[in-house]
Amino acid sequence: MSVDLGKLSDDICIVCGKAARRVNGYPMHSEPDGSHVARMVSSELREAMAHLCHEQWSGWMRYLFSKGALNEDGTWTMPSWAVKRWQRQMITPYSDLSEDEQDSDRKEADRFLALFAANGGHE
Ligand SMILES: [Zn+2]
Repeated sequence: MSVDLGKLSDDICIVCGKAARRVNGYPMHSEPDGSHVARMVSSELREAMAHLCHEQWSGWMRYLFSKGALNEDGTWTMPSWAVKRWQRQMITPYSDLSEDEQDSDRKEADRFLALFAANGGHE
């Protein structure tokens, strides 16, 4: 997806990611788009969510790398217990995870909910 640098400060449609704005209180695409009704989120909330996504990803990567071994040739080896656990988890639907595993995902979901709450909820 190409990014129009001139529109980074605009609010966006959360359906298509294109620029949107309010006209008489109604969300409208900046460039007419007949395929769907615009649903808006502020660019600030979008950036805050992207920031959180990166924090979650980098936190997970730090944890993952801490559990393996860095080899002399620059490669990294994942321990067998981690291969077994994470392969099981990645193919398991959320609803079939253990209560502890679901709690871990709920904590991450709560971070997004806190962002929404701090931004007046979503529409
Ligand atoms: Zn849209």
